[in-house]
Amino acid sequence: MRIEPRRVKLTTRTSIEISRTIPHARLKTIGAWCFIDHFGPTEQTKPMVVAAHPHSGLQTVTWLFEGHIEHRDSVGSVQLITPGQVNLMTAGKGISHSELSMECAKWFHGVQLWVALPKQSLDIDPFFEHIEQLPRLEMQGLRATVLVGEFMGHAAMAKTFSPLVGVELVLEPGTHKIPVDAGMEHGLMLVAGDVAVAGQGMETSSLHYFEAGKAELEITVSKTATMMLLGGEPFQEKILMWWNFIGRTHEQIALARSQWNKREARFGSFEDQIGGWIPAPDLPNIHLKPR
Ligand code: MN
Repeated sequence: MRIEPRRVKLTTRTSIEISRTIPHARLKTIGAWCFIDHFGPTEQTKPMVVAAHPHSGLQTVTWLFEGHIEHRDSVGSVQLITPGQVNLMTAGKGISHSELSMECAKWFHGVQLWVALPKQSLDIDPFFEHIEQLPRLEMQGLRATVLVGEFMGHAAMAKTFSPLVGVELVLEPGTHKIPVDAGMEHGLMLVAGDVAVAGQGMETSSLHYFEAGKAELEITVSKTATMMLLGGEPFQEKILMWWNFIGRTHEQIALARSQWNKREARFGSFEDQIGGWIPAPDLPNIHLKPR
């Protein structure tokens, strides 16, 4: 299945547009991966400024190809992330953070991915990981960096709560057969370059989805390409995603929303150079249901 990206404006002070593939009407999740945002490459005339906002019930994975972001959060992290490093934020019961791209970098390009936490982990304490030592492997025109989970016998350190894999692939021209865990479903998102998957060329930021049961994914590359490989065991629960929260019931979401907007202790607090915070929008006038 092919998912074409849609352009979405993020709530930021400098109005960044990103390309989003999932969640999509035809594809909610790949394993526990539930959100794929591709931003840039864009020449940075203004920094990306995302003021303090909350998360719960999920993990965020930030991965850059170009540029720098300063991350600050309510568990005390102040962390500059540069290309080749992973920022993994586990929101659990609640965290707040801000993101500021650094003006020193002229170009800005990366992905932000969300991972849904399983029901039994929704209420864990929040924590933040910055990981610079990632497994890297190189063979026959393929370079892989393992962000999350295990790929070709190389395991990343990032803490996950369900069977999951996330890999950056850099592929030289030719046909590649990428070995994967047949117990997982997978998605390939094109970051840059020219490739065909399942006999069909891919647009930048689009996603090709493979159901579980495949032990090998074939990619034909005509111009050196970068792709994100994201996989996981099919997620067994229906989830409820609204704004920056993931839960299972309308009541959980409504409570998170009101606690954030009242600045209750659940989401903590921190200082940054940005100042201010992003209020949650009004809930829609319907009873939200998990999907
Ligand atoms: Mn965020």
